[in-house]
Parts: sequence; structure tokens; C-alpha cells
Amino acid sequence: MSERLLKGIGVSAGIAVGPAVVVRWTLPEVPHRVVPRSQVEKEVRRLRAAVKDVKRHIAELKAKAEDRAGVDEARIFDAHLLMLEDKEFLASVAALIRENHLTAEKAFEFKALEVRDAWAATGSPRLMHRGADELWEAITQPSVVVAKELGPGLTVQLDREHVVGLVSEEGTRTSHAAILAHSIGIPAVFGVAGAMQRIEPGTTVVMDGTRGTVLLNPTAPEIAEAKARERRRRELASQLEEVVEQPAVTTDGVRIVLRGNVDLPDEIRAAQQHRAEGVGLLRTEFLITSHTALPTEDEQADYYRRVGEAFAGEPVVIRTYDLGGDKLPGPFRVQAEGNPQLGWRAIRVCLDRPEIFRTQIRAALRAAAHADIQLMIPLVTRLDEIDRTREMVSEEATNLKREGVEAAATVPVGVMVETPAAAVMADRLAAVSDFLSVGTNDLTQYTLVVDRGNARLADRFNAHDPSVVRLLKMVVDAARAAGKPASVCGEMASEPLSAFLLVGLGYDTLSVAPPALPLVKWTVRQVAAARARVAAEQALAARTAAEVLDLLRLTLAEAVDLKLLDPDARLPAGRRAASLNV
Ligand code: PEP
Ligand code: MG
Repeated sequence: MSERLLKGIGVSAGIAVGPAVVVRWTLPEVPHRVVPRSQVEKEVRRLRAAVKDVKRHIAELKAKAEDRAGVDEARIFDAHLLMLEDKEFLASVAALIRENHLTAEKAFEFKALEVRDAWAATGSPRLMHRGADELWEAITQPSVVVAKELGPGLTVQLDREHVVGLVSEEGTRTSHAAILAHSIGIPAVFGVAGAMQRIEPGTTVVMDGTRGTVLLNPTAPEIAEAKARERRRRELASQLEEVVEQPAVTTDGVRIVLRGNVDLPDEIRAAQQHRAEGVGLLRTEFLITSHTALPTEDEQADYYRRVGEAFAGEPVVIRTYDLGGDKLPGPFRVQAEGNPQLGWRAIRVCLDRPEIFRTQIRAALRAAAHADIQLMIPLVTRLDEIDRTREMVSEEATNLKREGVEAAATVPVGVMVETPAAAVMADRLAAVSDFLSVGTNDLTQYTLVVDRGNARLADRFNAHDPSVVRLLKMVVDAARAAGKPASVCGEMASEPLSAFLLVGLGYDTLSVAPPALPLVKWTVRQVAAARARVAAEQALAARTAAEVLDLLRLTLAEAVDLKLLDPDARLPAGRRAASLNV
């Protein structure tokens, strides 16, 4: 059993059974080898023979695809053939073999990489993602996609009918592809070491996005058991659906506002169905990353207005572009940086490219004429970033008025607290802004100096670390002292255990991934805020993240059946727990 069971990080709940489609975005590693001068011409002949072979193979695949999927679909193979029929390209490979005495495969790799870089330099995500397009089109039955790494740009394009699960070697719960998979509701297990090697294409797998496991070649009883587990999970989910009509109030009467995080337009519905009280985090970079051109002011204004209308009477918090880091640049030409997470990201990009930022601000002001639109600034580290943003908001409001365009006179501007600098300066930032909202994904990354997308460090990425808990406390206290609202919109708010801690720390507004809204609401309704406050006090005094987690589990187990929150959680014995009879 054990060699059939791969362990990773469950990043999106749900169980999927299906054949594995193993995708390789990168070329296989080709050893660097030179040949003696006397064998150079032999390598050129090997190159020609290999090209002929591959062409025949692709032509066969194309014919098969024509039969099974149709002539248009089969055209995806033309791109490969085009390259292999490109005489100039092949001549350049042969020249490289002759000049540097390289093996045919190494010379081919060098030239292919040149072509890829030339494509990338066009900045066209369409070209860069051509591999992805081909993949989605090539999947013809419900499959589990296995990849070394999945970026947000690719995940956005997933066809949910055909992709029933995702397995990736890289990535963690807070990498953007994981956040998207969760929001979209595709089961996913990331951080599965050796997945590419150990999962043969076509192998049937059972993947469990709650437990973080991938079982290879399951037996019939194992498949039946997995399906039964998935049925139970769905039953539980539908039981939870009923709770969404009830208010999020703790047993001692503290009202918690639960908003939704919306990354893609089609999540609006899920957030509405789960009765999100507005949108606490409208990520906007996805308007860009899967497109070839920046969205116009009109397109953005329409989108923001549409979201505003969907949550009429409730706030919609637009997070201004957070480009850079692990978010793909799309039409943006961004130079590679040695340390992108510490580089040109988010508000830095917006302030350096005011024409892009101003367009977004104008669109928000226009939508704000019809809805409660607010702006939230990501990755703030300095007060002047807010000052400058506010100036731009007021300048654009003046411009719109002068132009006679219907728009609000201003919009609230909030700070996304996701750097230690912002947390430490929270009192000052609260004074110059309208609200604070904590992005715990980045706050954890920058506080613990742990790359949020690095699977090897996943054990060390812990939002319960006492250092992060203390910063969270500083922020909520600073906001309260300044009389400004404070909320949490990082993934932490979507986990029941953490939501309990956040309520205890004093946060009364949480913005949650739409699929997690019912469970978080159910949890809030089972617990007493007073009890959460005691747990939070203990967490602030704890020495380690493990201590914090233990004490949260113990306290929460007094009120709820922890098995409902985490099927593999070990329960402290003999405690009374609420089960789901909502
Ligand atoms: C965060 O960092 O917690 C956050 C909500 O923003 P994102 O995940 O988009 O970086
Ligand atoms: Mg962030």
C-alpha cells in the first residue's frame, strides 16, 4: 500500500477518481555532452533522422485526433509540425552541432529554448501558454492533471468538466494556483514530491484534496471506499448549505460579518449562494493574467459594476492590481528578478505605472456611482503609498467630474496589511486610511521568511505561529484605537480553526473563499466569542505554532466535532461536541 500512496498537501477539498494526465511544461533534462570532431557529421545525421521520426509520430497522433475529436481539434499538432518543418530552425541546430561539437539533442534543446524565450519576449501569454491550451483541448475524459507546477494563469483556464482533480509537485495551500483551485472547487493536492516520476500517464488515481493523498492503481474496494467518502463529504456540504440562511452569530451573541473572496467572475454566484455579505477581497489581477491586453477602463467599470450589483447594498472591496511575485504578468513586460517576492510587486508596480493604476482607479470611481465600492491597496510597506493613492483617487475624481462622466466623488481606501512593516505601522496606517484588512498569506510569508509557494517549506509556513498571531493582534488593536474597521481576507479566515482564533483576537469581519463560507459560518455559530478570546490570549502567550494549534483544537473540541472540520484530526477523548444538525 505505502508505495502506492503519495502524500502532499491537501489544498482544495474533495475526492477525485480518474486517469492521470501527466503534463510536462518543461523540456526533459538533456545532459550536456560533446562529441569528437570526427563524429560531428554523424550527430547531424542523427538530428535529421530524429526529426523525421518525430514528424511521423506527430502525423500519426494528428490522424488519431482527427478521427476522435475532429479536424479542427487536431490542428493543435500543427504547431509542433511547423517547428520541425522550419528549415531555418533546423539549419541553426545543425550549425550549432558543427560549431560546438554538441550532441544533436543538446543543440536542439539550446535552439528550442531560444525560440521559447523569443515567444516569451513577445509578452503574449497566449503563446507562452500554448502548451496549456493544447493540454486542455487534449483531455477528452474526466482526468486528474498531474504537473510539476501549476501557475495561476494555467489554473484559470481549467475546464472543470474534464479536469476533476489536480496534483502538483510544487505549490502549497497559499500558492495562487491553490487558492484558485479551492475557489473554483476542484479537488487538489500540491507539494507531492516525485509525482511526475511516480505517476505513469493513464494510471488510475484516487486523490483526496482533504487528506492530501494520491493513491495509485486503486483496487475496486478502495475506489468504492473513496466514492463513499466523497458522498459523505457532499452530504455534509449540503447539510451545511442550510446554515447559510442563518446569521453568523456566536453563542454569546457576537455578530461576525462574513464576506466572500472573489478571484474570478464565476465565483460571484457561489459567493451569493452562500450569502456572502459583500466581497471582502475582489482580486483583479486575473482580469489581466489570462488575457492578451490590459482591460480598458470601460471593461473594468462594467465588471466592478456587475459585482457591485450582485451584492447590492453590501460593500465590494476591490484589491488594486497585485502583479508580480508569483502572479503571472500576462501582457505586462516584467524583467525577471532574482527575488520576485521581494521585488517589483503590487502597489509598487501601480505607482510606477500610473497610467495603469489611474485607469483602475477611474473604473472603480465610475462603478462606485452605483454601488458600495471600496479600494484596498496590497503589499503596503510605507505611509506615502497610501498618501499617493489617495491623491490619485482625488485627482481622477476631479478629472471624471470635469469630463462629465458619472462617477462617485471618492471611494474609501483601505490598507491590506500583509507585511511586517505594515503591521508594525498599523496605528499610523489606520490614521491615514479608511480600513485595514490583513492578508495573512503574505503576512505569514514575510514574517516567517518562508516562500508561500515552496512545497519543501510547507511545514514551516504556519499562520498560527505566535509571531503572526501577535502581529494580527497589533493590527486589530491599532484599528480599534483609531476607530477604523479591521478584517482578515487571507486564507486563514477560510479555515474554521483559524477563524475561531481570529474571532478571539477581536476581528468581527472575515472574508472567506466562497466554498468555505458555510463551514466557517457553522463554526462561528457553535462557539462563544468569550471562549475564543481566552484561547486567543493563550495563543499570544504560546511558544510555538504547534502549541497554538493544539490549544485551538482542544478549545474548539469543547463545542464542535473536530472530525467535521478535519476528518483526520485526532480528537481529545471524552469531549462533548456539536454535530451537524443544523
Ligand atoms: C494574502 O496575501 O493573504 C492575500 C489575501 O492576498 P493574495 O493571496 O492574493 O496575495
Ligand atoms: Mg497577498
